[in-house]
Amino acid sequence: MQNPERVELVRLRLGLTKIGFAKALGVDRKTIQRFESGTHELSSKCIQTLVELSCFPKEFFEKNKFDYPDPGAVSFRSLRSLTATLRNAALAAGALAFELDDWVEARFELPEHSLPQLNNSTPADAALALRAYWGIGERPIGNMINMLESHGTRIFSLSEETRHLDAYSFWRNDRPYVFLNTMKTPEHSRFDAAHELGHLVLHRHGGPSHRSAEDEANAFASTFLMPPADLRARLPVVRGLRDLFEGKKRWRVSAAALAYTLHKQGVISDWHYRGYCIELNKYGRASEPFGIEPENSQVWQKILTDLWRQGITIFHVAQELKIPERELWNLLFGIAAAPGMGERPQPATLRMVK
Ligand SMILES: [Zn+2]
Repeated sequence: MQNPERVELVRLRLGLTKIGFAKALGVDRKTIQRFESGTHELSSKCIQTLVELSCFPKEFFEKNKFDYPDPGAVSFRSLRSLTATLRNAALAAGALAFELDDWVEARFELPEHSLPQLNNSTPADAALALRAYWGIGERPIGNMINMLESHGTRIFSLSEETRHLDAYSFWRNDRPYVFLNTMKTPEHSRFDAAHELGHLVLHRHGGPSHRSAEDEANAFASTFLMPPADLRARLPVVRGLRDLFEGKKRWRVSAAALAYTLHKQGVISDWHYRGYCIELNKYGRASEPFGIEPENSQVWQKILTDLWRQGITIFHVAQELKIPERELWNLLFGIAAAPGMGERPQPATLRMVK
Protein backbone atom coordinates (compact mmCIF):
# COMPACT_ATOMS: atom_id res chain seq x y z
CA MET A 1 0.00 0.00 0.00
CA GLN A 2 1.40 3.38 -1.01
CA ASN A 3 1.72 6.08 1.60
CA PRO A 4 -0.06 9.20 0.21
CA GLU A 5 2.33 11.47 2.12
CA ARG A 6 5.31 9.97 0.35
CA VAL A 7 3.64 10.27 -3.03
CA GLU A 8 2.97 13.92 -2.18
CA LEU A 9 6.62 14.41 -1.19
CA VAL A 10 7.79 13.13 -4.56
CA ARG A 11 5.23 15.31 -6.34
CA LEU A 12 6.72 18.33 -4.57
CA ARG A 13 10.27 17.22 -5.42
CA LEU A 14 9.21 17.00 -9.06
CA GLY A 15 7.86 20.54 -8.84
CA LEU A 16 4.45 19.49 -10.18
CA THR A 17 1.03 20.88 -9.33
CA LYS A 18 -1.66 18.37 -8.38
CA ILE A 19 -3.23 18.69 -11.80
CA GLY A 20 0.12 18.39 -13.57
CA PHE A 21 0.95 15.37 -11.44
CA ALA A 22 -2.32 13.58 -12.26
CA LYS A 23 -1.71 14.28 -15.94
CA ALA A 24 1.86 12.96 -15.76
CA LEU A 25 0.56 9.76 -14.16
CA GLY A 26 -2.14 9.42 -16.79
CA VAL A 27 -5.02 9.58 -14.29
CA ASP A 28 -7.58 12.23 -13.46
CA ARG A 29 -7.48 14.61 -10.53
CA LYS A 30 -10.24 12.69 -8.70
CA THR A 31 -8.21 9.48 -8.67
CA ILE A 32 -5.41 11.31 -6.89
CA GLN A 33 -7.87 12.92 -4.48
CA ARG A 34 -9.37 9.53 -3.61
CA PHE A 35 -5.88 8.12 -3.13
CA GLU A 36 -4.96 11.00 -0.83
CA SER A 37 -8.06 10.49 1.28
CA GLY A 38 -7.23 6.79 1.62
CA THR A 39 -10.32 5.45 -0.13
CA HIS A 40 -8.57 4.35 -3.28
CA GLU A 41 -5.29 2.65 -4.16
CA LEU A 42 -3.18 3.54 -7.16
CA SER A 43 -3.19 0.97 -9.93
CA SER A 44 0.02 -0.92 -10.57
CA LYS A 45 0.28 0.80 -13.95
CA CYS A 46 0.04 4.19 -12.24
CA ILE A 47 2.70 3.20 -9.70
CA GLN A 48 4.95 2.02 -12.52
CA THR A 49 4.58 5.40 -14.23
CA LEU A 50 5.33 7.16 -10.94
CA VAL A 51 8.51 5.10 -10.50
CA GLU A 52 9.64 5.84 -14.04
CA LEU A 53 8.80 9.52 -13.74
CA SER A 54 10.50 10.10 -10.41
CA CYS A 55 13.28 7.46 -10.33
CA PHE A 56 12.15 6.74 -6.76
CA PRO A 57 11.78 2.96 -6.31
CA LYS A 58 8.38 1.47 -5.53
CA GLU A 59 9.46 0.63 -1.97
CA PHE A 60 9.98 4.31 -1.13
CA PHE A 61 6.25 4.91 -1.41
CA GLU A 62 5.48 1.96 0.87
CA LYS A 63 7.54 3.24 3.79
CA ASN A 64 6.07 4.80 6.94
CA LYS A 65 5.50 8.36 7.94
CA PHE A 66 8.40 10.76 7.65
CA ASP A 67 9.32 14.17 9.01
CA TYR A 68 8.72 17.21 6.87
CA PRO A 69 10.25 20.61 7.69
CA ASP A 70 7.60 22.89 9.17
CA PRO A 71 7.26 25.65 6.53
CA GLY A 72 6.33 28.18 9.24
CA ALA A 73 9.59 27.62 11.08
CA VAL A 74 11.81 27.88 8.01
CA SER A 75 13.38 31.09 6.91
CA PHE A 76 13.82 31.54 3.20
CA ARG A 77 15.81 34.45 1.94
CA SER A 78 14.25 36.45 -0.84
CA LEU A 79 10.95 34.86 0.10
CA ARG A 80 8.93 37.16 -2.09
CA SER A 81 10.69 36.22 -5.28
CA LEU A 82 10.58 32.52 -4.48
CA THR A 83 7.75 30.56 -6.07
CA ALA A 84 5.75 28.13 -3.95
CA THR A 85 6.84 25.30 -6.25
CA LEU A 86 10.49 26.01 -5.68
CA ARG A 87 10.03 26.44 -1.95
CA ASN A 88 8.15 23.16 -1.67
CA ALA A 89 10.76 21.32 -3.72
CA ALA A 90 13.46 22.65 -1.40
CA LEU A 91 11.49 21.66 1.71
CA ALA A 92 10.88 18.20 0.24
CA ALA A 93 14.66 17.90 -0.16
CA GLY A 94 14.81 18.73 3.57
CA ALA A 95 12.56 15.75 4.31
CA LEU A 96 14.92 13.48 2.36
CA ALA A 97 17.86 14.97 4.27
CA PHE A 98 16.16 13.92 7.53
CA GLU A 99 16.07 10.31 6.34
CA LEU A 100 19.76 10.46 5.45
CA ASP A 101 20.58 12.22 8.71
CA ASP A 102 18.71 9.62 10.77
CA TRP A 103 20.55 6.83 8.94
CA VAL A 104 23.89 8.48 9.75
CA GLU A 105 22.85 9.29 13.32
CA ALA A 106 22.15 5.60 13.97
CA ARG A 107 25.71 4.72 12.97
CA PHE A 108 27.95 7.60 14.01
CA GLU A 109 28.42 9.67 17.13
CA LEU A 110 27.89 13.23 15.94
CA PRO A 111 28.45 16.29 18.13
CA GLU A 112 25.50 17.54 20.18
CA HIS A 113 24.56 21.10 19.40
CA SER A 114 25.96 23.95 21.45
CA LEU A 115 23.86 26.82 20.11
CA PRO A 116 22.52 28.99 22.93
CA GLN A 117 19.30 30.96 22.49
CA LEU A 118 20.14 34.66 22.23
CA ASN A 119 16.78 36.10 21.29
CA ASN A 120 16.92 38.79 23.95
CA SER A 121 20.04 40.45 22.53
CA THR A 122 20.54 42.74 19.57
CA PRO A 123 21.92 40.83 16.57
CA ALA A 124 25.40 42.37 16.98
CA ASP A 125 25.52 41.58 20.71
CA ALA A 126 24.29 38.06 20.02
CA ALA A 127 27.09 37.52 17.48
CA LEU A 128 29.73 38.65 19.99
CA ALA A 129 28.11 36.64 22.80
CA LEU A 130 28.17 33.51 20.64
CA ARG A 131 31.82 34.09 19.75
CA ALA A 132 32.61 34.41 23.46
CA TYR A 133 30.54 31.29 24.27
CA TRP A 134 32.39 29.29 21.63
CA GLY A 135 35.73 30.71 22.76
CA ILE A 136 36.73 32.18 19.42
CA GLY A 137 37.22 35.75 20.62
CA GLU A 138 37.68 38.27 17.83
CA ARG A 139 39.65 36.18 15.38
CA PRO A 140 38.47 35.55 11.81
CA ILE A 141 36.63 32.31 11.09
CA GLY A 142 38.62 30.09 8.76
CA ASN A 143 35.80 27.75 7.80
CA MET A 144 32.15 28.47 8.56
CA ILE A 145 30.93 24.99 7.61
CA ASN A 146 33.38 23.33 9.99
CA MET A 147 32.58 25.85 12.70
CA LEU A 148 28.85 25.10 12.43
CA GLU A 149 29.38 21.35 12.27
CA SER A 150 31.70 21.25 15.25
CA HIS A 151 28.87 22.85 17.23
CA GLY A 152 26.41 20.20 16.19
CA THR A 153 24.72 21.79 13.17
CA ARG A 154 23.88 19.47 10.28
CA ILE A 155 24.85 20.94 6.93
CA PHE A 156 23.33 19.95 3.62
CA SER A 157 23.46 21.35 0.14
CA LEU A 158 20.55 22.81 -1.79
CA SER A 159 20.47 21.55 -5.31
CA GLU A 160 17.66 23.76 -6.52
CA GLU A 161 19.25 25.62 -9.35
CA THR A 162 18.02 29.06 -8.71
CA ARG A 163 19.58 32.31 -7.76
CA HIS A 164 16.53 33.08 -5.66
CA LEU A 165 17.20 30.42 -3.10
CA ASP A 166 20.32 31.09 -1.04
CA ALA A 167 19.91 29.03 2.08
CA TYR A 168 17.50 27.94 4.75
CA SER A 169 17.65 26.63 8.28
CA PHE A 170 15.44 25.21 11.03
CA TRP A 171 15.36 23.22 14.22
CA ARG A 172 14.19 19.62 14.30
CA ASN A 173 14.14 17.55 17.52
CA ASP A 174 16.52 20.00 19.18
CA ARG A 175 18.96 19.68 16.30
CA PRO A 176 19.88 22.63 14.05
CA TYR A 177 19.93 22.15 10.27
CA VAL A 178 21.35 24.47 7.62
CA PHE A 179 20.91 24.06 3.87
CA LEU A 180 23.31 26.04 1.68
CA ASN A 181 23.22 26.83 -2.00
CA THR A 182 26.72 25.73 -2.97
CA MET A 183 26.34 27.10 -6.50
CA LYS A 184 27.00 30.59 -5.10
CA THR A 185 30.48 32.05 -4.64
CA PRO A 186 32.29 30.76 -1.52
CA GLU A 187 32.13 34.27 0.01
CA HIS A 188 28.39 34.40 -0.57
CA SER A 189 27.91 30.90 0.83
CA ARG A 190 29.88 31.75 3.99
CA PHE A 191 27.77 34.82 4.57
CA ASP A 192 24.63 32.71 4.08
CA ALA A 193 25.91 30.19 6.64
CA ALA A 194 26.47 32.99 9.18
CA HIS A 195 23.06 34.48 8.32
CA GLU A 196 21.35 31.12 8.99
CA LEU A 197 23.29 30.75 12.22
CA GLY A 198 21.77 34.10 13.18
CA HIS A 199 18.25 32.72 12.59
CA LEU A 200 19.05 29.61 14.62
CA VAL A 201 20.15 31.54 17.72
CA LEU A 202 17.86 34.58 17.38
CA HIS A 203 14.60 33.22 15.99
CA ARG A 204 14.15 29.69 17.24
CA HIS A 205 10.94 30.48 19.07
CA GLY A 206 8.29 32.47 17.30
CA GLY A 207 9.84 31.64 13.96
CA PRO A 208 11.80 33.84 11.62
CA SER A 209 8.72 35.15 9.84
CA HIS A 210 8.61 38.72 11.15
CA ARG A 211 9.71 41.34 8.74
CA SER A 212 12.86 42.45 10.54
CA ALA A 213 14.16 38.86 10.87
CA GLU A 214 16.12 39.07 7.61
CA ASP A 215 17.81 42.34 8.63
CA GLU A 216 18.59 40.88 12.04
CA ALA A 217 20.16 37.76 10.53
CA ASN A 218 22.25 39.94 8.19
CA ALA A 219 23.42 42.16 11.05
CA PHE A 220 24.30 39.04 13.03
CA ALA A 221 26.28 37.61 10.09
CA SER A 222 28.20 40.87 9.58
CA THR A 223 29.35 41.05 13.18
CA PHE A 224 29.97 37.32 13.45
CA LEU A 225 32.24 37.26 10.38
CA MET A 226 33.77 40.72 10.87
CA PRO A 227 33.97 41.54 14.60
CA PRO A 228 34.17 45.35 15.02
CA ALA A 229 37.23 45.31 17.31
CA ASP A 230 39.21 43.20 14.82
CA LEU A 231 38.08 45.42 11.92
CA ARG A 232 39.16 48.56 13.79
CA ALA A 233 42.52 47.06 14.70
CA ARG A 234 43.33 45.75 11.21
CA LEU A 235 41.61 48.23 8.96
CA PRO A 236 41.30 51.58 10.75
CA VAL A 237 41.33 53.43 7.42
CA VAL A 238 40.54 52.33 3.89
CA ARG A 239 42.71 53.98 1.27
CA GLY A 240 41.31 52.24 -1.75
CA LEU A 241 39.84 49.09 -3.25
CA ARG A 242 43.14 47.34 -2.68
CA ASP A 243 42.60 47.54 1.09
CA LEU A 244 39.20 45.95 0.68
CA PHE A 245 40.64 43.13 -1.43
CA GLU A 246 43.36 42.64 1.19
CA GLY A 247 40.69 42.52 3.91
CA LYS A 248 38.80 39.86 1.97
CA LYS A 249 41.67 37.47 2.57
CA ARG A 250 41.51 37.97 6.32
CA TRP A 251 37.75 37.82 6.94
CA ARG A 252 36.89 35.67 3.93
CA VAL A 253 33.91 37.76 2.93
CA SER A 254 33.16 39.61 -0.30
CA ALA A 255 34.71 43.06 -0.68
CA ALA A 256 31.14 44.33 -1.04
CA ALA A 257 30.14 42.89 2.37
CA LEU A 258 33.32 44.29 3.92
CA ALA A 259 32.70 47.76 2.45
CA TYR A 260 29.09 47.66 3.67
CA THR A 261 30.16 46.77 7.22
CA LEU A 262 32.94 49.38 7.30
CA HIS A 263 30.49 51.99 6.04
CA LYS A 264 27.99 51.04 8.78
CA GLN A 265 30.74 51.44 11.33
CA GLY A 266 31.73 54.85 10.06
CA VAL A 267 35.17 53.80 8.78
CA ILE A 268 34.15 54.57 5.18
CA SER A 269 32.30 57.82 4.43
CA ASP A 270 29.06 57.87 2.43
CA TRP A 271 30.86 59.42 -0.50
CA HIS A 272 33.64 56.82 -0.57
CA TYR A 273 31.19 54.01 -0.01
CA ARG A 274 29.20 55.01 -3.08
CA GLY A 275 32.43 55.07 -5.08
CA TYR A 276 33.42 51.57 -3.89
CA CYS A 277 29.97 50.23 -4.71
CA ILE A 278 30.25 51.55 -8.27
CA GLU A 279 33.72 50.04 -8.67
CA LEU A 280 32.70 46.68 -7.20
CA ASN A 281 29.53 46.54 -9.27
CA LYS A 282 31.67 46.57 -12.38
CA TYR A 283 33.00 43.15 -11.39
CA GLY A 284 29.54 41.76 -10.66
CA ARG A 285 28.65 39.79 -7.60
CA ALA A 286 29.79 36.46 -8.98
CA SER A 287 33.22 37.51 -10.19
CA GLU A 288 34.83 39.72 -7.57
CA PRO A 289 38.63 39.37 -7.80
CA PHE A 290 40.66 37.46 -5.19
CA GLY A 291 37.95 34.86 -4.72
CA ILE A 292 38.40 32.54 -1.75
CA GLU A 293 38.52 28.74 -1.77
CA PRO A 294 35.20 26.94 -1.36
CA GLU A 295 34.53 25.38 2.04
CA ASN A 296 33.93 21.68 2.51
CA SER A 297 32.37 19.66 5.27
CA GLN A 298 34.83 17.69 7.37
CA VAL A 299 32.07 15.73 9.06
CA TRP A 300 30.58 14.49 5.78
CA GLN A 301 34.03 13.74 4.43
CA LYS A 302 34.79 11.61 7.50
CA ILE A 303 31.47 9.81 7.33
CA LEU A 304 31.78 9.03 3.62
CA THR A 305 35.39 7.90 4.00
CA ASP A 306 34.58 5.72 6.99
CA LEU A 307 31.67 4.11 5.15
CA TRP A 308 33.75 3.64 2.04
CA ARG A 309 36.40 1.77 4.03
CA GLN A 310 33.67 -0.67 4.96
CA GLY A 311 32.65 -1.02 1.36
CA ILE A 312 29.59 1.19 1.74
CA THR A 313 29.09 3.95 -0.81
CA ILE A 314 26.30 6.45 -1.31
CA PHE A 315 24.89 4.00 -3.83
CA HIS A 316 24.38 1.46 -1.02
CA VAL A 317 22.94 4.06 1.34
CA ALA A 318 20.53 5.10 -1.41
CA GLN A 319 19.48 1.49 -1.90
CA GLU A 320 18.81 1.02 1.79
CA LEU A 321 16.88 4.28 2.12
CA LYS A 322 15.00 3.63 -1.15
CA ILE A 323 15.95 7.13 -2.30
CA PRO A 324 17.57 7.76 -5.70
CA GLU A 325 21.33 8.12 -5.39
CA ARG A 326 21.07 11.41 -7.29
CA GLU A 327 18.92 12.89 -4.49
CA LEU A 328 21.54 12.00 -1.88
CA TRP A 329 24.35 13.48 -3.95
CA ASN A 330 22.28 16.63 -4.37
CA LEU A 331 22.22 16.96 -0.58
CA LEU A 332 26.00 16.66 -0.44
CA PHE A 333 26.84 18.54 -3.62
CA GLY A 334 29.67 21.00 -3.14
CA ILE A 335 30.18 20.11 0.52
CA ALA A 336 31.58 16.58 0.31
CA ALA A 337 33.29 14.63 -2.46
CA ALA A 338 33.08 10.89 -2.92
CA PRO A 339 36.06 9.26 -1.22
CA GLY A 340 38.34 6.84 -3.00
CA MET A 341 37.41 8.03 -6.47
CA GLY A 342 39.04 5.75 -8.97
CA GLU A 343 39.63 3.00 -6.43
CA ARG A 344 37.42 -0.03 -6.11
CA PRO A 345 35.68 -0.37 -2.76
CA GLN A 346 35.42 -3.71 -1.00
CA PRO A 347 32.34 -5.84 -1.62
CA ALA A 348 29.32 -4.18 -0.08
CA THR A 349 27.62 -5.33 3.05
CA LEU A 350 25.80 -2.87 5.22
CA ARG A 351 26.56 -3.16 8.89
CA MET A 352 26.47 -1.07 11.98
CA VAL A 353 29.64 0.83 12.71
CA LYS A 354 28.71 2.39 16.04
ZN1 LIG B 1 17.06 34.67 6.43
